[in-house]
Amino acid sequence: MRGQTAQQRPGEVPQESPEALYRRVRACRICRDSPAGRPLPIEPNPILAISSTARLVVAGQAPGNLADKTTKPFNDPSGVRLRDWMGIGPEVFYDPTKLAIVPMGFCFPGYDAKGGDLPPRKECRAAWHDEVMRAMPQVELILAIGLYAQAFHIEGGRRSLTETVADWRAILQRGGRYAPVLPLPHPSWRNNAWLKRHPFFEAELVPALRQRVAALV
Ligand code: SF4
Repeated sequence: MRGQTAQQRPGEVPQESPEALYRRVRACRICRDSPAGRPLPIEPNPILAISSTARLVVAGQAPGNLADKTTKPFNDPSGVRLRDWMGIGPEVFYDPTKLAIVPMGFCFPGYDAKGGDLPPRKECRAAWHDEVMRAMPQVELILAIGLYAQAFHIEGGRRSLTETVADWRAILQRGGRYAPVLPLPHPSWRNNAWLKRHPFFEAELVPALRQRVAALV
């Protein structure tokens, strides 16, 4: 990560650099010490990547168990598929000067009764997301993966994943809360059936995604 380059005007309160903000987020223990509901079942380990130069943001749901254990997001087969969709390798994906990673919950939320990941902690959005996105005014495109990220970044209310992804051209053109948004399904194997039922995604959206990613990283 590099330092904030914006010029400070006389009398203006200095803007915190993304690096300093990153350190504050990494130290966050809200979901352990003052949670809105049940405390996080594990020690918080906020996982994100931000910088003053990344023009592309991957906005997912929340880190999974493996990402938590390694403090490395998308460190699993879903990450391999996502990088394939984007047309980039890990060396670009994990370079925060080129690509920011801002999931809707920064910590692994634990499992539900059926063994699936719990939703991202709502404390995170309330405490951090506006601040984090405002710290990166240079961002030109946000990849909103799944409904939680889409509900936050796309103005105009929550729709189903299929409706949202199918409407990607209009959504991209309209702009989002902080920057233009491209909605994507989660790259998990759980979505294999969805991908099969919606061939437009790989035939039309993925080529458009690759083109935009190549231009931004
Ligand atoms: S999920 Fe977000 S709000 Fe909760 S402890 Fe982690 S960083 Fe803090």
